[in-house]
Amino acid sequence: MGGRAADFAFPPGCGVCGAPLAEPDALCPSCWGQLRFISAPMCPRLGIPFAIELGPGALSAEAIADPPVFDRSRAALVYNDLARALVAQLKYGDRTDLATLCGRLMAQAGHEFWGEAPVLMPVPLHWRRQAMRRFNQSVLLAREIGRRTGLAAMGGGLRRVRHTRQQVGLSGDARARNVAGAFAVSPRLLERLGGRRVVLVDDVVTTGATANAAARALRRAGVDHIDVISLARVVRQGD
Ligand SMILES: [Zn+2]
Repeated sequence: MGGRAADFAFPPGCGVCGAPLAEPDALCPSCWGQLRFISAPMCPRLGIPFAIELGPGALSAEAIADPPVFDRSRAALVYNDLARALVAQLKYGDRTDLATLCGRLMAQAGHEFWGEAPVLMPVPLHWRRQAMRRFNQSVLLAREIGRRTGLAAMGGGLRRVRHTRQQVGLSGDARARNVAGAFAVSPRLLERLGGRRVVLVDDVVTTGATANAAARALRRAGVDHIDVISLARVVRQGD
């Protein structure tokens, strides 16, 4: 029904630049052409693209220097100017319809995860931030991935117990300190999971500090396997 309703809705322009489009839920060819899709070869832990095939099991320098708390992360896009604009439209630009496109890209990027029948867990916002923004973009993305993969998105399993400052402008160490202890799990989480794996859903992975803090809370609660899917991830020049 959602699809039908969208057909008759006022056709929105390109999700990033606003250029008129024939189909809703799309980007214009120019914006689409500026997306950088992440594909193999990549670091099996962090999903960072490799310029050349390094052989099975070869890890990125980041994964070796600073092993993540979670098991694997995958992202659909390199976080470049276009990805930044896309996320901004989704979060602040009243373009929640873009969750359909973003969820589709994320469902493709996380294809290795879905066969394991995990539970999708959106990274929560603190209630105060959610009240300001009216919605959590990660919930929209998780719902969309769920619609495409048939997997359930679980709300309330993970809570943000500390109101942290925005990560924007903080260095890697400061980001990790900022989100340390920010998450708590609900007391009956393990029961609700019933042995299923968890895939954390977030819009952007920058240093991985938020995903690591969320994964640490889940690990402490006894969750064995935690993966991360994001729309975009920061890839440093030269990686
Ligand atoms: Zn455009």
